[in-house]
Amino acid sequence: MAAPGQHSPATAQTTRFAPSPSGRLHLGHALAAVTAARLAEASGGRFLLRIEDIDSVRCRPEFIDGIFEDLAWLGLRWELPVLLQSTRLAQYREALAGLAERGLAYPCFCTRAEIAAEIAAMPAAPQGPEGPLYPGTCRDLSAGQRQQRRAAGEPHAWRLDASACLAALGGRELWFEETGRGPAGESGHQPVAPLACGDIVLGRRDVGVSYHLAVVLDDHFQGVTLVTRGEDLFAATHVQRLLQAVLGLDAPRYHHHRLLRDASGRRLAKRDHDLQLAELRARGLAPAAVLALAQGG
Ligand code: GLU
Repeated sequence: MAAPGQHSPATAQTTRFAPSPSGRLHLGHALAAVTAARLAEASGGRFLLRIEDIDSVRCRPEFIDGIFEDLAWLGLRWELPVLLQSTRLAQYREALAGLAERGLAYPCFCTRAEIAAEIAAMPAAPQGPEGPLYPGTCRDLSAGQRQQRRAAGEPHAWRLDASACLAALGGRELWFEETGRGPAGESGHQPVAPLACGDIVLGRRDVGVSYHLAVVLDDHFQGVTLVTRGEDLFAATHVQRLLQAVLGLDAPRYHHHRLLRDASGRRLAKRDHDLQLAELRARGLAPAAVLALAQGG
């Protein structure tokens, strides 16, 4: 039910909260989770929980239990079964292979150090929202070179060829609908800048998939119609929208919310133990007080 004075969206929305189980949830996660839950509820829709556990080194089963415990304590209810990304690795691999076959993804053999050195040697390295873009070194390898290096067992990631994606769209303009606010107050119809993030990683060399690829496949697979998340992921939405278009997936609407910050203005992170939900609970705070804190900043 919409709260008095609020307009309920015309159609029922499916939202999701998608934490990574690499630590305990903190106050910022409470804001993300309650935003997703409330927007689903206000529209008479569905609220899903997805565990983003593709990183087998950093993610731990006890943190998954911690997520369930913390969210239940907050009074949130989500649909079952909960989707674990670690159960979908075959689907991610298949989608990546399809992109590679179409010439929209390529193997990248560069190490971090090589990329940094190449960028440092450039007079004016192109910048993306999160720093310098990948300089495209491996984009120019021939098919023969790629095959030879892969056959030799050289470790590699897979990258999106953003320009090839743009060409594949044949001039079709992309956009997404922002129902919240981006970091610069963006709202409403957002034209997508397909090249802004450059050739992002689709398949990490360690786990074979990346956040961007898994997220767009799963939002589609789960029928998510409204993606709610922190404004730090606003730039990622541009690249995810491009991926949706080349993969032929549905485009959800987006609702980015502000981030909670600590006293020095840094966004809350898993290192902020005193703002973990388990810690606040141990200090005797009631769920309603924690939700008020999260929503009030
Ligand atoms: N798993 C991501 C995180 O914990 C959220 C991804 C998303 O909402 O798209 O930051």
